[in-house]
Amino acid sequence: MADTKYIFVSGGVVSSLGKGIVSASLGKLLQARGYNVTIQKFDPYINIDPGTLNPYEHGECYVTVDGHEADLDLGHYERFLNIPTTRANNVTTGRIYQTVIDKERKGDYLGKTVQVIPHITDEIKRNVKLLSKNKFDFVITEIGGTVGDIESLPFIESVRQLKWELGKNCICVHLTYIPYIAAAKEYKTKPTQHSVKQLQELGIQPDILVLRTERFLKQDLIRKVALFCNVGEEAVIQSVDMPTIYEVPLILQRQNMDAIVLKKMGLDAGSTPDMKKWEGFLQRKAEAKETVRIGLVGKYVELQDAYKSIDESLLLAAIYNDRKLDLHLFHSEKVNETNVVELLADMDGILIAPGFGQRGIEGKLTAIRYARENDKPCFGVCLGMQCMVIEFARNVLGLEGANSTEMEQTTPFKVIDLMEDQKNIINMGGSMRLGAFDCVLQKGSRAYEAYGKEHVQERHRHRFEFNNEYRKQFEEAGMKCVGENPDSGLVEIVEIPALKWFVGTQFHPEYNSTVVNPNPLFVGFVKAAIENK
Ligand code: GLN
Repeated sequence: MADTKYIFVSGGVVSSLGKGIVSASLGKLLQARGYNVTIQKFDPYINIDPGTLNPYEHGECYVTVDGHEADLDLGHYERFLNIPTTRANNVTTGRIYQTVIDKERKGDYLGKTVQVIPHITDEIKRNVKLLSKNKFDFVITEIGGTVGDIESLPFIESVRQLKWELGKNCICVHLTYIPYIAAAKEYKTKPTQHSVKQLQELGIQPDILVLRTERFLKQDLIRKVALFCNVGEEAVIQSVDMPTIYEVPLILQRQNMDAIVLKKMGLDAGSTPDMKKWEGFLQRKAEAKETVRIGLVGKYVELQDAYKSIDESLLLAAIYNDRKLDLHLFHSEKVNETNVVELLADMDGILIAPGFGQRGIEGKLTAIRYARENDKPCFGVCLGMQCMVIEFARNVLGLEGANSTEMEQTTPFKVIDLMEDQKNIINMGGSMRLGAFDCVLQKGSRAYEAYGKEHVQERHRHRFEFNNEYRKQFEEAGMKCVGENPDSGLVEIVEIPALKWFVGTQFHPEYNSTVVNPNPLFVGFVKAAIENK
């Protein structure tokens, strides 16, 4: 395709309408037509990235292969499109301002007054266009927040300018909400009308509207929205609540959303591509009758989005094992020696979540001890793996008080310790061991069995590591270090081969698990859990 096409996705009325899922679904449909698609997210907050945000603020922090701490929507983009994102796919207001201010300090603006328009908006536009250098046919940009927020104004203004500059090569999709008022027994379109008006006041006429609703709306309501919002009736698409987000591409396709996009951009829509692979996956999901019960132990379990990629990876792994996922969440602060059997006995497998800091650690250690002593499939991710090591040190090696120096600097046995290159770090943002690193697997290990190869790459986000000084002691007692980074010698995977499936990874395999390519370790863990039933 000669020119890159740009699609902006904004949201109105309320947040959490699923802009990320709509963007990912549209991306999927265009990809199914053979186009190269990438999806980008603009976040209007001032943090440079979400790396320093706590999960209560922002849910999971996703990590790209190139080591950028990113919004969790990038996880959806990757799971849907099956192509990696990078730092360029997630930009915050903070990053835009930082670049502009750095340029100002260097004197790049030659004595000019630096202003929101044009300097900030130019930087935003540069970040949109940056992606087209990678030869993408379509760049879909999701604008975080809700239209009308003060924070997102510079982004909306940049979209207005781009629409003007790019003409047919740029369209805007606006996602709004149609609430059902139970007392009146009616769906209401007024908030949508107001939201579109607000967008129009900012100089943007949406080309396509996506209405989030609980049920499909009657055509006269669609007609009304179209009439009030200057959008063709066929371009008013409905995004109805679905039992799974993975059905969204199909309901959008049934309403010809992708064909409408192409038509509006002057491209030949041709025939609708089949989505056989995707449908096959959904069918497999629908046909799975038996369940697999997984217990997730973590300290953020009350937050819907804190373990997003882990939840999705478990779901995908269950489907690829032809099982329904029955996920039980256990607050690590509430697991103790008295209740652990009662809580976890019914689980087919236990996953110990990643995390930071002391809170909830003892509950994780108790759950791990229970899993280890009762040979229950157990999967530790990052801090979860570190806890496996601590538990083993304390209860098998007899190293009383063994700990990670993250939790206790004066521990007599630093089985998990700060990585050498982390020791002099002062800035907390973006300074962990981040992104994809090589890992060499030991043949014959559970991990090797799962991946079916010796060399893998997985993404990291941590400061602490397995202390290699203890390696021999662990291995002699039965906990093996079966994955190692070939350059640094850092231990990336531990296992207890004598148990059915007891694996801990210093990396986060959940960042690398997509609908067409579920992560092998998750698939292996769920398989072991099923066999343990
Ligand atoms: N807090 C641990 C570390 O920094 C683990 C981090 C994590 O679980 N992502 O090493």
